[in-house]
Amino acid sequence: MTTQTTPETAPIERTLVLVKPDGVRRGLAGEVLRRVEAKGYTLVGVELVNAKEDLLARHYAEHVGKDFYQPLVDFMMSGPILAVVVEGQRVIEGFRSLAGATDGTLASPGTIRGDFARSWGSKVMQNIVHGSDSPESAAREIALWFPGL
Ligand code: GDP
Ligand code: MG
Repeated sequence: MTTQTTPETAPIERTLVLVKPDGVRRGLAGEVLRRVEAKGYTLVGVELVNAKEDLLARHYAEHVGKDFYQPLVDFMMSGPILAVVVEGQRVIEGFRSLAGATDGTLASPGTIRGDFARSWGSKVMQNIVHGSDSPESAAREIALWFPGL
C-alpha cells in the first residue's frame, strides 16, 4: 500500500507547463491558464518564448536519438511557446492529469488534450501542452526555462 499524504501536509511542488506552438497558434493559451487556475494552482512564472534548438535539446534530452526527435524539435520551434511555472500540492501529477494522455485521439474528454487535440502518429507532437513528469524533471526543466526562478 502506498503512503497517503493528506492534502494539508503534502509538500508544495512546482511543475513546468508549456503551451506548445499549436496551442498558442490556436488561441488556447488562456484556456490552459484558466484550467490551471480553476483547479486551484498558482502561476509563479509566465513567459512567451521563441525556443532555440539548444534549449529544446536539453529539455527533450530523454528523446535525443529517437526517430521523432528532430520533427518534435522543429515543431517546438515553429512558433512561440508559453512557458509557465505552476505551484501547488501534488501539482506535478495534477497537471499531468489535467493534460491527459499523449495521443490526442485517446486522451480522455475533459482533459486539455482530450478536449482540444486529436493528433496521432507522426503528428502526435501536436498535443497542446507539456507537463513535467516527476520532481526531478520539474526541477531540471524549470532551471532551463526560468533560470531566475
Ligand atoms: P508526454 O510526457 O505525454 O508529453 O510524452 P513523451 O514525454 O513521451 O513525449 C514528449 C512529446 O514528444 C510528446 O508530448 C509528443 O509531443 C512527442 N512525441 C512522443 N512520442 C512521439 C512519437 O512517437 N512521434 C512523434 N512524432 N512525437 C512524439
Ligand atoms: Mg514526457
